[in-house]
Amino acid sequence: VISISQFSQINNLLGYKTGDDILRYISIRIVRVLGEKSYISRLYSDKFGIVLLNIKNKNDIEKKLGSLLDKLKEPYYINGVRYELFFNIGCALNNNTNDFSELLLRAEESCTNAKKYGFDYINFFDDKSFNLPTSTYNLNKDFKNALINREFFLVYQPIYNIKRQKIESIEVLIRWLHPTLGILNPSHFIDIAEQTGSIVPLGNWIIREACKFQKQIKESFGFDIKICINLSYKQISNRDFVNCVKKILKNENMSGHNITFEITETVSMQNPDRLVITMKKLEELGINMSIDDFGSGYSSFKYLLQFKASNLKIDKLFVDKLNSKFGMIIFEEIITLGKKLNMKVVAEGVETEEQFKIIQNTDCDEIQGYFISKPITSQELIKFLITSNIN
Ligand code: C2E
Ligand code: CA
Ligand code: CA
Repeated sequence: VISISQFSQINNLLGYKTGDDILRYISIRIVRVLGEKSYISRLYSDKFGIVLLNIKNKNDIEKKLGSLLDKLKEPYYINGVRYELFFNIGCALNNNTNDFSELLLRAEESCTNAKKYGFDYINFFDDKSFNLPTSTYNLNKDFKNALINREFFLVYQPIYNIKRQKIESIEVLIRWLHPTLGILNPSHFIDIAEQTGSIVPLGNWIIREACKFQKQIKESFGFDIKICINLSYKQISNRDFVNCVKKILKNENMSGHNITFEITETVSMQNPDRLVITMKKLEELGINMSIDDFGSGYSSFKYLLQFKASNLKIDKLFVDKLNSKFGMIIFEEIITLGKKLNMKVVAEGVETEEQFKIIQNTDCDEIQGYFISKPITSQELIKFLITSNIN
């Protein structure tokens, strides 16, 4: 399986026509290098699938793919403009299976892993990583059951308002209680949920559960806490999304003012026009939008222009660099930018008192991180709110 790195960026920046042209050029090059002793197809989006025939030796395969990678790495000229691309290749050998769909799954798993090593990497499916219980490959198999058996639960992380010295919002984070592996963080399964499309029903469940919890807090404390919910691009680009949210709000008898949706750059890159319309409808429901992981992506400024969000979450990356002169300058400038745009600015991943003290002296509105609390269960959060000075 060959994957083109950051292909969605090409589509976004240069348009689908150029994206299609590039895909065509890539296919021509693959056919030229591999010739007739192979089956070549485009699997989907940025992925090509290749079956190499009459070649058994791993070294020979590596050589062949190496020359393919060299060819693919040559610049692409489209309308006189030069483009250079990065690729990753994942391979599976039919040593211990001839089941084609199994081989394809293994090659895809290796390709996903290749991305973790960097660009232009050829990765072979390895029986050891395949046996690793937390490999995407294995979790993929358990994921369906997890949905049926309701193995997911939510944890909540308090967000502290510095000026008002109290917890005013909480971020909702999902966990998977795997029957044998224990509690798994979303990094292990959000991709699977997105790829299988399950993120849509799962996402609706998250919103519903979070709304119920918000109401429970209100009933216990008479206090409206805002819930910040992460959205995946698959959810927000689903045509039915706004209606589902409306239904949930209606069923729970809740106002949208208590909800903030957090979106990252990947969300905003998929279908910006649709997203603008969806965001407008959400806004009409009183829901706020928050730009998550700000500063860690490629085009953060671009989407500040595109989307009207009310919150800006500065990535932990910058909080970690507060002890350096440059780090401090960048942190303060992001806050200035957010404030000028009338946004509430939240610093993420605050872990130490030292960081907290530095941030306290800036214009930053809120902090989130282990310094205040790790993500905790609903029961723990209620206790936390009771002992902390929420009033
Ligand atoms: P995120 O939205 O940036 O969430 C913050 C992540 O930082 C959480 O990881 C949280 O546990 C972690 N964190 C918070 N404070 C600290 C700190 O002081 N130090 C360190 N080292 N980490 C801290 P988590 O829960 O593993 O979530 C990872 C990512 O998975 C989230 O990043 C979010 O993008 C995604 N995610 C989590 N829950 C959901 C969900 O319900 N739906 C969707 N679509 N994505 C989710
Ligand atoms: Ca978030
Ligand atoms: Ca974040």
